Amino acid sequence: MVGGKVGTEDLDVCFRNLGVAVGGGEMGGGAIVDWKDLPMELLMRIISLVDDRTVIMAFGVCTGWREAISLGLTHLSLSWCNDNMNNLVLSLAPKFTKLQILTLRQNKAQLEDDAVVAVANHCHDLRDLDLSKSFKLSDCSLYALAHGCPCLTELNISGCSAFSDTALAYLTRVCMNLKILNLCGCARTATDRALQAIGYNCSQLQSLNLGWCDGVTDKGVMSLAHGCPDLRVLNLCGCVLITDESVIALANGCHRLRSLGLYYCQNITDRAMYSLANSRVKGKHDLWKSVISSYGEEGLMNLNISQCTALTPPAVQAVCDSFPALHTCPGRHSLIISGCLSLTSVHCACAFQAHHAGRRVMTHHAH
Ligand SMILES: [Zn+2]
Repeated sequence: MVGGKVGTEDLDVCFRNLGVAVGGGEMGGGAIVDWKDLPMELLMRIISLVDDRTVIMAFGVCTGWREAISLGLTHLSLSWCNDNMNNLVLSLAPKFTKLQILTLRQNKAQLEDDAVVAVANHCHDLRDLDLSKSFKLSDCSLYALAHGCPCLTELNISGCSAFSDTALAYLTRVCMNLKILNLCGCARTATDRALQAIGYNCSQLQSLNLGWCDGVTDKGVMSLAHGCPDLRVLNLCGCVLITDESVIALANGCHRLRSLGLYYCQNITDRAMYSLANSRVKGKHDLWKSVISSYGEEGLMNLNISQCTALTPPAVQAVCDSFPALHTCPGRHSLIISGCLSLTSVHCACAFQAHHAGRRVMTHHAH
């Protein structure tokens, strides 16, 4: 939440309005005469409505507010902070110990290890942490998080280029409940060794972004396919070394896969496409076994094979026919084939329907 400039005058105006609404008028029983008299539930309600800068300012109003915010604040984003984010985190982490969601995404790298260590030392309930573009951070941050925040289910370290695969592997051994992990651009971190650790430790993983981690090979992806059966979103765009074996392993091991990015994976051939198309048939058998999971089981809903230049139209058409949620039509565009000049003949069902509708109209006019 990023608001405009909020001064204490604005807070006072809010308070006066609130006084009229709650305690004001002749009927007002327990009159609220000062900020500190606000009931805690009401205060937390207000805090949940204002932007993060105002929350930090409200923290300075009085002891009562400070305690209430310390106990009640669970979500915070400091992404609006263009300067001094590091100092701000150092000063806030010991106060906001109940944080569950913390967004520290930056435009220019400001965060240093001491700030992340402070978060890890004080915010043990943290579930969702966004550190993207913090390329000043070192392994020290990941080790601190592993020790202090074992409940993490969502971690975004995209663009944090200095982490080693050893530190990430260590974190996965402790944060075994990870469901969403973004390693986009972390070529040094997301090695096959790290992916093996993820496959071994994080069986609940649902979403993994490995975009432009160009050291990843089939070995790493196959570990994921075996160890993370619940994987739904996998971005392998720019993982130039992977081959059909990766896609075949995913098609066989991850029946819930909804989104797969293979942009620029130029070793991918028709074999990979046919394995995906056939996985739909296998998936259908699974569906009958579990009535509950049958709802919303759509199969692949997004597939990016742009710049996969070895693919031919029949194989890609087979995938498109197997998964009704894949579209090449404008507006829906969930099967992305741009850059593959040989694939211009591949079309989703909409194109055929439009064609038939056109023919029906023409036949009608002929009569
Ligand atoms: Zn369509």
